[in-house]
Amino acid sequence: MIWGETMSGTMQDWPLLVGKLIDHAAIYHAKREIVSLSCEGPKHRTNWAEVRGRARQVAGALRRLGMKPGDRIATLAWNTWRHVESWYGISGMGGVAHTINPRLFEEQIIYIANHAEDRVLFFDLTFVKLVEKLAPSFSTIEHYVLLTDRAHMPADCSLNLLCYEELLAAESVDEPWEPVPETAPAGLCYTSGTTGNPKGVQYSHRSNVLHAMAACATDVFGMGARTVVLPIAPMYHANAWSIPYTAAAAGAKLVMGGPNFDPPTLHKLIVEEEVDLALAVPTIWLGMMQHLEKTGESLGKLNRTAIGGSAVPRAMIEAYDKLGVRVLQLWGMTEMSPLGTVGTGVPETDAMGYGQQLDMRIKQGRGLFGVEMKIVDDDGAELPRDGVAFGRLLVRGPWIVGSYFKGDGASAFDADGWFDTGDVATLDPLGYMQIVDRAKDVIKSGGEWVSSIDLENVAVGAPGVAEACVIGVHHPKWDERPLLLVVPKDGAAVTRESVLAYLDGKIAKWWTPDDVVVVPSLPHTATGKLLKTALREQYKDYKLPTA
Ligand code: ADP
Repeated sequence: MIWGETMSGTMQDWPLLVGKLIDHAAIYHAKREIVSLSCEGPKHRTNWAEVRGRARQVAGALRRLGMKPGDRIATLAWNTWRHVESWYGISGMGGVAHTINPRLFEEQIIYIANHAEDRVLFFDLTFVKLVEKLAPSFSTIEHYVLLTDRAHMPADCSLNLLCYEELLAAESVDEPWEPVPETAPAGLCYTSGTTGNPKGVQYSHRSNVLHAMAACATDVFGMGARTVVLPIAPMYHANAWSIPYTAAAAGAKLVMGGPNFDPPTLHKLIVEEEVDLALAVPTIWLGMMQHLEKTGESLGKLNRTAIGGSAVPRAMIEAYDKLGVRVLQLWGMTEMSPLGTVGTGVPETDAMGYGQQLDMRIKQGRGLFGVEMKIVDDDGAELPRDGVAFGRLLVRGPWIVGSYFKGDGASAFDADGWFDTGDVATLDPLGYMQIVDRAKDVIKSGGEWVSSIDLENVAVGAPGVAEACVIGVHHPKWDERPLLLVVPKDGAAVTRESVLAYLDGKIAKWWTPDDVVVVPSLPHTATGKLLKTALREQYKDYKLPTA
């Protein structure tokens, strides 16, 4: 049979371009607000119509600077309206918005800016000193654009800085978008590189638009024009979990914290702006809990938090339930734009008692439409979806990475298009996925596996414990055994004995950590995860009392 005209649908070929997201918001939700705390200090208010016009000015300014479709334009910036405009403007002129995570080590920032061959860097006032220091090591950056107005331009900077507001003022709010194909690149984000150099994930217009449409759905973020959303997850970490795109598709009010991540500031913003959905990693929500415990304040209209990036402890879900705030656990990664699963309920879980529901809610969630998952053993054979068998988690879908930028990390992809997430997981008959561990963090004790995540989840519920981390330490008989490190809450008396007593009966006996060390703090990666590579190094010669 010839695949001719009669074999195609007769519908329009409307390319899925990110510019269409913000055009939609500007037309149908013109006055819906975008509120940000700024780097200059004051709270700033604008709306989708203004931001769209200014994004088009960004596109014009980049063309005037000689930028061409496909060029990488970097941003080193917090969540603000200017960063959102820059994103849409860069992608809208056909460029690739490369978000750089300022929390990476300096050598990593240099590596990725050079690897990406960034031509322009947009950056916030807070990074002037950093950029001045790193500029001699950047080999391809031609222009430095400071995201501020003339009045705030520093007088004493050694770089030839361009002023963002002045660049925009010279351009038209009707600058046309570049008619690139939907498969053209729109964004670039590097993984945090806990092993080896960071690897680049290049999002396409199509993948970003499909992901935004999927993320609005009822059983994902359930976002619409009445939603007031606060992405605390930064735009440089997996696209702020797509919220700058998803909020535009939904026509939601968008609230952003700028350079602020401290609980009192975020709390004030949530209450004042009547935020009902906020998204952040567990560490932020832990800090917020402690703030609320101290002040006795409420979270205003907040009724949902989306939490991901690391496992959400049971105690956190219960604590927010008591405040009337529903925790939606998310699992995803930079390579997945980032959404893979969401922990929304189904009729079967609605029918369960609270304790059983919590058992389901500490799982990472169900795959959303557009994400295929399977678990496989070491030979690549698929394992059953029975909630018991666990294996390497592979994923496939239209917003999942197909290859890393410039061909790095090819071993993560197989011939059938599956991407190996590096996570080890179970899948259950209701469709819930549960991470057992990162493949590299799992503790191999006498041929059996101990899940560091499961142990941490329980340990963080112990009285007085703020944060817990479990790593495998060498043991002469068992090969590896778990060592538990705990950080006490402010002023709390936590001891090895008090933690072990709490764990007794809550975990399998052979999972009991061989030792507990109380530490003042734990190291984190640039994306807020426990830096287990550093801890394994630090404790590699640790003598367990059982050894
Ligand atoms: P990085 O660049 O540090 O890899 P990502 O955010 O892309 O940053 O990390 C993705 C990884 O984070 C996942 O593969 C998984 O191991 C972990 N992760 C994300 N969400 C969760 C979750 N809800 N529970 C447990 N682990 C999670």
